[in-house]
This record gives sequence, structure tokens and C-alpha cells, in this order.
Amino acid sequence: MKDINNSIQEWISKILRPLEFVSKNNFANLPKTKGLEKALINLINNAPSDINHIKEKLLEFSLGLEESSLEEKKERIAKMLKLLKSLNFSQEKKEVANSEVSEKPDFFTWGISRKEISLETYLRYKEILKQPVQFLKGIGPSIAKKLAKKGIHTLEDLLYFLPKDYEDRRKVIPIGDLREGQRAVVFGEILKSGTSQLYKRKIFYAQITDGTGFLTLKWFNFNERVWRKLLAPGKNIFAIGEVSRFGKELEIIHPELIEEGDEDKLSVEIGHIVPVYSSIEGVSEKYFRKIIKSAIEEYGDYLESSIPLEILKRRGFVPLNVAIKNLHFPEPKEDILLLKRGESIYHKSLSFDEFFFLELALGLRKGRIKKERGIKFNTESKLVEEFIKKLPFELTDAQKRVIEEIKNDMAKEVPMNRLLQGDVGCGKTVVAFISALIAIDNGYQVAFMTPTEILAEQHYYNFRQYAQLMGISTALLTGGIPPTKKREIYHGLSTGYINFVIGTHALFQEKVEIKKLGLVIIDEQHRFGVLQRAALREKAKGLIPDTLIMTATPIPRTLALTIYGDLDLSIIDEMPKGRKPIITELYHEYNKNRAYQKAKEILKEGHQAYVILPLIEESEKVDLKAVTTYGEFLQKEIFKDFKVGILHGKMSSYEKEKIMHDFKRKEIDVLVSTTVVEVGVDVPNATVMIIEHAERFGLSQLHQLRGRVGRSDVQSYCFLIAYKISTDSPAYQRLQILCETNDGFRIAEEDLKLRGPGEFLGTKQSGYLEFRGADIVKDYPILLQAREEAFKLIEKDPELKNYLILKEELMRRWEERLKLSEIA
Ligand code: ADP
Ligand code: MG
Repeated sequence: MKDINNSIQEWISKILRPLEFVSKNNFANLPKTKGLEKALINLINNAPSDINHIKEKLLEFSLGLEESSLEEKKERIAKMLKLLKSLNFSQEKKEVANSEVSEKPDFFTWGISRKEISLETYLRYKEILKQPVQFLKGIGPSIAKKLAKKGIHTLEDLLYFLPKDYEDRRKVIPIGDLREGQRAVVFGEILKSGTSQLYKRKIFYAQITDGTGFLTLKWFNFNERVWRKLLAPGKNIFAIGEVSRFGKELEIIHPELIEEGDEDKLSVEIGHIVPVYSSIEGVSEKYFRKIIKSAIEEYGDYLESSIPLEILKRRGFVPLNVAIKNLHFPEPKEDILLLKRGESIYHKSLSFDEFFFLELALGLRKGRIKKERGIKFNTESKLVEEFIKKLPFELTDAQKRVIEEIKNDMAKEVPMNRLLQGDVGCGKTVVAFISALIAIDNGYQVAFMTPTEILAEQHYYNFRQYAQLMGISTALLTGGIPPTKKREIYHGLSTGYINFVIGTHALFQEKVEIKKLGLVIIDEQHRFGVLQRAALREKAKGLIPDTLIMTATPIPRTLALTIYGDLDLSIIDEMPKGRKPIITELYHEYNKNRAYQKAKEILKEGHQAYVILPLIEESEKVDLKAVTTYGEFLQKEIFKDFKVGILHGKMSSYEKEKIMHDFKRKEIDVLVSTTVVEVGVDVPNATVMIIEHAERFGLSQLHQLRGRVGRSDVQSYCFLIAYKISTDSPAYQRLQILCETNDGFRIAEEDLKLRGPGEFLGTKQSGYLEFRGADIVKDYPILLQAREEAFKLIEKDPELKNYLILKEELMRRWEERLKLSEIA
């Protein structure tokens, strides 16, 4: 391959020599040169076969050259030069493209053996990058406005605006080799051009050739005067676009054009792997590439994240500036498939850069917590013993193990920060109660926070059964509690009279003061903002309370290391004995009656059922009506012999409480509800879960909902009803996963893959995990590497005393999001 290229190269330079000689200095040598025609024809006849496609053209220009007028000679020579140069151009690129791609570029070969810079220099760099985009040549106020709409305000924003795809424009493709459907760059001479009529529409066309074939370029929208000039016959032009077929002919509709002499554009647009950006209204692709190019050239090297070079070298990543540069304008030798898939070394390096700082932040926070003074609890607790005796079941081994882990933490002076994970129904609540009892037994107060009122109430009543017997005073604090009652509770908390308070985010209210807060329990954490963790701890006066976070949605390891990266992890990986896996079945709308029929059979045996409806409309009123109407319909038409109750989020606390109470006491058989019962609700006698419009829910959410049944040793069922989905649609396949498995971790992983972290975690969290390039799911292995390196660095230098720039950069990136100010 190389040899052939070389011989073409050689041949081109041979034939260019005489042509360049006669054409230089405005053809000064041409009049006195003799024998050019013969020499050219000789050379052309000896050309390597690879260039057969232009041979004919070259011959045409050469034959009879000697007899032509001087003007004609000049013209022919100029044409030959153009033709050869275009060939030369694509040849050069081809050669680079074919040369081997090194796997791990050693960034020192990129000519940037960066020196350590001073903090002062770094700060100056930051100032420069903070400048508005208008500082850049080519960006005036109107373009700046358009960029601002895309969130691009500063030079740094611009540099971080990364391509969403890449286009292979390394080679100019001979027209004869074009295939339908291919996106290609071609170069040819315009044979004819003009307007014509196509199905009553006026179009502009141009036919071009490069000697290997013919191609028509077509426009439906055009400015005739401009197009006629641009596409005058005889001119040579580059055209870029998707090749399509029209009858027997190949054509490109609305190609991008670049004029032959437009070196500025050519140098960016052709002969490269060209970046493709998400479109910006009012800024053409080409113009945007030009802007980015000059941004990179002028400011790219001010990107400095200061991750120690030895770390990058060890892991085979390149520095930030190199990564960003190459992401925008990769070298022709790069592997375009890796680039397109976002898996190039530059993508990976950027991910590493982002993860490194995240993990550095988490590591520092973890380190800080470890240094704080917390409470040393005595974990030998009478209350716990009593409680366990009263339980109607024996704890599972997993529960026992996790309780030991918690006790261990509580006995230490360092505050506990533990995440308790486990699939729905594995029995996390009991574990939480036991930890609460330890704290109470030590004379401390406990705050238990839940994401919904229903859940708060349920835990409250559950716990109170036992608490009353043991002389523990409990309180429920939710938004729906009347003000006078609330004041009473505030008082009880500030005096220390109330031992155990359970509630929603009402617990955060400023008025709430807790005298001797020893333990904070947060249930279903992923629904809270991460920062709220810190807020509740701030309620503590003096000593730092222990924190136990429980989550029902199993968190894929990827996320566990990011959002919860500063926490210790406990996992309950065992279900209480005798539990039967829930049988899940998928029904189409048209045979959903079969599902309801089955449900009726089960109800007849004395069990209960949930029917869940999604929120459909934006307006709550409409939804409530939907729930109410459907409930009434079910009562009248389907479940005539049973009692149907309705529950939704807009009911008053009192109403909700009453309905749940009735359902628990089996005064209601079928509970028709919105997703308010999604988390935590625990009515073991309910063994059927029917989910309407299952296709509208996320996998994890469905798994949660399903978790409301299967809470005893009776066989439970979940019937998913899907509307208007075909069996080969992704939605259908998603639902199949639920039918196949009850494994919450597997479901969570799938869900995360399908929806990405932002959606998976819900809107509250999505801002927290916003990266500019990294993807925590895809780049998990990189996350692990970043974590290792970041933690190692912190171990070596816990306060980053020798890494001032790194620390500064860390603050810039994460201070807001992680409340790092407490570290510094
Ligand atoms: P989750 O982990 O989803 O919060 P819960 O704590 O609500 O689970 O427990 C689910 C159900 O299992 C509850 O009815 C609870 O009383 C019961 N349970 C908890 N632990 C056990 C156990 N070891 N054996 C039997 N049932 C248990
Ligand atoms: Mg729970």
C-alpha cells in the first residue's frame, strides 16, 4: 500500500516540476520553454494506474499544447496544476490516514511537555478563559447572542462545546467510486449549470466531473444570481454531501461547496476528520467550525486543570488542553470510529479529568467527616433487645450483618455516614428502627426523614406500636400537620422531650431545633437533593450526629461511587425467608381484562390489590379526575363485589391517612392510586399490583411499585398493562426485563443504561452529575481509575497543601455542588 502511494507521490512531483517551472512568476518561463507537450505526454503515459481517472483529462490538456496560443497554454497548464494538486491533496491525507494509529499517544510527542505553572499563571489563564466569546475574532454581538442561547458565554464554554459527531473528509473520493448513500467529498470541474424544471419546481443544478464519472449537484433553494457565478462552467469546486440516486444518475442535493482557492475554508473543511456540532440557530456549520478553530488556536492552551502529569502518564491519558484540542480537530491518523463512539483517548482523557475532580471532592469530604467529632454511642442496648424480642419474625443474616456494621460505626467517635442499600422488601426499615433505638437508649434524639407523607405516616405508626410499649415519645412532622400541633412538636424537639421524630422535608424548616440530635435517618435518599444531607446535620447543635441513608432503588455501583462516593456502604442482599418471587406478566391493552379477571380470583381468596395509574396530564386536576373516574369505573364494572378506594397526592393528609388506614385494616380491597404509593408502603396482605400504562414508567419505578406486593410468604403478582406498543419496540423489551427478573440491581443497571444518570436520579439530582463530556455509565472503568488516583493523592496530602492549583480548580468545579467550603 505504502509503495503504491509513494510511487504516486513520486510521479506527481515529477510531473509538477515542469508545470510549476513554466507557471511561476506569472508564466514568465512559458514563452521560451520547448518540448513541454512531449515531456508531459511521456510522463502521463507512464503514470501509475491508480490515477487512470485523471489520465484522460491530463492528456486532453496536453495534446496540441505546443500549437496553442499563449493564453490557451496558460489556461491548460493552470487546469492541469489544479487537477494534480487536488490529487496530491487527497493522496497526502490518504497516506496519513493509512499510517498506523498508535494506541496510547504519549502526550510528550504532541509537543506539549507542559511545565508546572505557578498559581499566578494559572489564575491568569482562568481570567482569560472567563472572557466573553466576543473577544474572539469573528464573533460580534449578534453571533454572541446566538451562542448564548446554547449556553456558550465565555471562551471556556466555547472550548468545551464538543462535537457530537465526526465526519470523514480525509479523502476526496473519485466520482466514479461514489456509492449511493455515502457521505463524500468530491472535487470536479463544472461542465454545465443552470436552472431547470423538476416536477413543477424550479431547481438549480450543476454537473461536475473529475474524469472518472459525472455527478449532478442540485438545489431547491438557491439565489440564482449568486449560484450562476459560483457554479460557472469551467470552475473547479469541492462538494460535500450525501450521494443519492436519481434515475440512473448519482447526485448530491444541497451539497456544501468550497471554492477551489478558498484556502481558509479548505484547510478546516477538507482533508480532515471534521467535527460536527449540534446546530446553533443562525450560525452555519462552517462558520462555527471556523470560530472553534480560532478559539482552539488562540486559547486552547489556557485550559489547565493541573492534574499531575505523572498521574496522566501512568494512566495513559493526555492533559486537558490536548484532549480538548483533539476532540475538536483530531488528526487524520486518528481512528474515526473511536471518535464517533466517544471512545477515543481524548474522550477518555476528558472523562478522567472530570471524574478526577469529582472523586477528589468526595475523597476530601470523606476525609473531613472522618476528622469530625461525633458521638460515641454505647451500642449495648436494652431497648434493642426488647424490640427484637417483640418482632413477629427473625432477622435475616443480612440484616444482622448490617446491624453489626452500623453498631460498629455508632460506637466510634467519628460520625457515621453509611448508605444502606437493599432491594425493595428486604427489610431496611427494621434495621433503621434498631439504629434509632440505640441512639435513644443513649439519651439522644433521632430524626427520620422520608420523601412522602404517606411513608412518614406509615413508619410513624409502625414504630409507635413498639415505641409506646417502651416509653419512647414519638412525633410525626409533615406539611399537613396543623400549626398548633406543629408548635407543640417544635417545642418537644427543642426541649429534648420528643425522642423520635419522623417527617418529610418539613424537618428542615428553620424553626425546627433539635436539642440533642444523635442520629439522622434518611429513607429513599435518591429523592432528596444531595445537599439536604448537610442541611439536616446542621440542625445539630454541638456534636455531629450519625447519618444513615437508606435507599430502596438499588443504586448501580457506578452511581454509588459518584453520588454516594463519600459514604460507607452496607448491603442487605437477602430477602426474608419464605418470600416467593413475584410473578410479573405483561398484557396488552386489548386483553387487560384477563389481568383484572385474575386479580378478582385472588381478591376472592381474601387478598388485596393495587391499581396504579400514571400521571398523564400536566394539570393535576385532570389527573385526579382520571384516577377518580377510573376508580369509579372499576368499582362499578370490574370489582362489583369488592370495595375500591382512591388515593392520590392532592388529598389532604387526613384523607390520605384515612384511606391508607382503611386499606391496612382491609376495609378497602382495591386501592386505585397514583404513584404516591411508590415507595415504602407496606401492606403485606396486598398481593396483586396492576400497573396501567406501564410503558410510561421507568424500570426502577416499576420495580419499586411492584415491591409493594410480595411482602409475605403468599405468592404475589404484578400485571403490567401496556398501551399501543409493538412487540419489537424498545418499550416492550424494557418491560420484558421486569417479567424476567426480580433482581433490583440488574433492573437498576438496565434502567441507568437506558435513561442515563440524570433521568435515573430524577431532576433534583441531574444538575449534580452534569459533566461536560464524561458519562458515568459508559466510562465506569475510567471513574474507578480516577477514584484510585484521587484517593491516593489525598492520602499523601490530605489538605492538598502541595497542590494549590489543583485545589483551586477543585473549588471552581465543585464548591457549589458539594459544599466544599467546609473543607478549606
Ligand atoms: P424495605 O427494605 O423495602 O423498606 P421493609 O422494611 O418495608 O422493606 O420490609 C418489608 C416487609 O418485610 C415488612 O412487612 C417487614 O415487616 C417485613 N420484614 C422485615 N424483615 C423481615 C424478616 N427478617 N423476616 C420476615 N419479614 C420481615
Ligand atoms: Mg422502605
